[in-house]
Amino acid sequence: MAHAIRVHKYGGPEAMSYEAVDVGAPGAGQVKLKQHAIGVNFIDVYQRTGLYPQPSMPFTPGNEGAGEVTAVGEGVTDLKVGDRVAYAGAIGAYADERLAPADKLVKLPDAIPYETGAAMMLQGMTVQYLLRRTYKVGPETTLLMHAAAGGIGLIACQWAKHLGATIIGTASSDEKCALAKAAGATHMINYKTENFVERVNQITGGKKCDVVYDSIGKDTFPASLDCLKPLGLFVTFGNASGPIDAFNAGILAAKGSLYMTRPTLNTYTATRADLVATAKDLFDVVASGAVKINVNHKFALKDAAQAHKDLEGRKTTGSIILLP
Ligand code: NDP
Repeated sequence: MAHAIRVHKYGGPEAMSYEAVDVGAPGAGQVKLKQHAIGVNFIDVYQRTGLYPQPSMPFTPGNEGAGEVTAVGEGVTDLKVGDRVAYAGAIGAYADERLAPADKLVKLPDAIPYETGAAMMLQGMTVQYLLRRTYKVGPETTLLMHAAAGGIGLIACQWAKHLGATIIGTASSDEKCALAKAAGATHMINYKTENFVERVNQITGGKKCDVVYDSIGKDTFPASLDCLKPLGLFVTFGNASGPIDAFNAGILAAKGSLYMTRPTLNTYTATRADLVATAKDLFDVVASGAVKINVNHKFALKDAAQAHKDLEGRKTTGSIILLP
């Protein structure tokens, strides 16, 4: 019998229960997967609490995984039984076996283990579009990355360093700051003990940043805007501390004709061509060694609630996976 984590009612980590499930056979356009590892991401928390509502209840959380194809549904021509695959953005990942839409899957290169694949698809492809498309980061770029020791953060530090950027990161402890610095951050700010706006001003000699990547939301807004040069870009891409309240767009004028975007990976990988290109770019930097995926926490699938507690409790660094 297959097993999955199910959420019957939005709530805290305890809303997740480990249950026997009947997976069935893949329908048209689907494949059946035996999952070897499952990625845990902050979006899983938003979906569990109902901040990002689900179309129906109960649901199986989780958006990312890696495993092998065990059955192929009608109309699926580019995958076969035994293929090693990975994916992000297909809800229902917290399971040992699952059905998944074939068009969300990419073949995992042989050099990349399942655990790395499961840990990197969502965070890594997000970093790809943030640094390569939302803003084209290069050697002349100074950027601010909040939560620089997190899953997204450690990948972003390495990738932005590889692109030659000056990276100012924030994190909530000196240990986390040291980790992000080792991953490539040029400067780190402990935003628990230091005022990050003042420190960004100091570090840049008053010039500030071309782009701010903010996944914290409520707690760092609007201060993050004060870290930008005139015409700078504010990228608000997450809400770890809660969503940003409605605000008057005039603040963007007052702080220097700023640009603002609220991107999601879904938009950037909506076409098959974009998904494949984004994944390939990620596989290339991982295969070359420019970006190392830090799988710093592993839990049994049935212990998903503990993984969420640690993630929400800011106890984790790098990526988290569940093992069936
Ligand atoms: P992280 O590993 O970065 O964990 C979140 C981190 O946010 C914590 O470790 C913590 O770091 C920091 N944080 C600050 N305030 C809080 C708070 N009140 N509660 C909890 N954490 C807080 O998670 P991920 O790498 O999975 O995701 C990072 C962010 O990116 C999330 O906000 C996520 O939603 C977003 N995201 C957005 C995507 C998109 O396409 N828009 C796609 C993927 C992720 P510290 O202790 O150092 O402050």
